[in-house]
Amino acid sequence: MNRVLFGPAGYPSEARGNVRRVFQILAEAGVDALEYAAVHGLKTKEDKAKIIGELAKESGITMSMHAAYYISLASKTPRIRETSKERLVKALRFAPLMNVKRIVFHPGYLGGLSKEEAHTVIRDALRSVWETAGDQGEGAFLAPEIAGKLSAYGSIEQIISLCQDVEGCIPTIDWAHLYARNQGEVNDKQNYLKILTQFEDALGELFVNNMHFHISGITFTEKGEAAHRPLGQEWGPDILPLVEIIRECGYKPTFISESTNPLQGALYAKFLFEELEKGSK
Ligand SMILES: [Zn+2]
Repeated sequence: MNRVLFGPAGYPSEARGNVRRVFQILAEAGVDALEYAAVHGLKTKEDKAKIIGELAKESGITMSMHAAYYISLASKTPRIRETSKERLVKALRFAPLMNVKRIVFHPGYLGGLSKEEAHTVIRDALRSVWETAGDQGEGAFLAPEIAGKLSAYGSIEQIISLCQDVEGCIPTIDWAHLYARNQGEVNDKQNYLKILTQFEDALGELFVNNMHFHISGITFTEKGEAAHRPLGQEWGPDILPLVEIIRECGYKPTFISESTNPLQGALYAKFLFEELEKGSK
């Protein structure tokens, strides 16, 4: 992407599921991206998927997709491991129809395995998904996400290793999850920069050219994420220092808002960015 993009996770509720209305609302609001929520499974038929892709193209909206929450690549149950892979294969096949460039997903829980064992299982599963359907995604990436719960697979190091070990993988940095994992530590310029540098040092252009972020307010306990909250002053993390770093470094990420009102959150982040742009002129 050659500019910073902002958009909501899921359809705005005002559209009441009407797909044309979805893209009208997004265009009127002035956002640039949408993360299609297939979080309860990708149930869309092919013809509907094509309509979504065409509408996205017409309205200049950059598409990503959030695959099913119940993907669990290291599950104790072999059948769940298989269906998890199948879900990602299906998402790759649908990606070109929907004009989707990034398939975000949670790799899953450790399934009673050690961290190393879980990594091997998840890595091999993703390699097999990519071998089966990587080319059918027509340029779409698999984008494993930083997990909010400490019991889930998805630390910074784990996500970086996956992206190094598996072709077709880029990281999704969920800053709210990271904040929850680190008990509120990642909340200022210095820490934001440290993490961005860690990803850039490890993954280079693959990361810099395909930056995909989730943002939201969040609450947490010692186990990690508790609940998503609105973006703004009231709940952490503070995203203003993040937006400042992005501008100063010239990074061009896509910000997807997963706050309790996702469109409002996307507009809040965009507002912060635009105010900084104005200030610099
Ligand atoms: Zn997220």
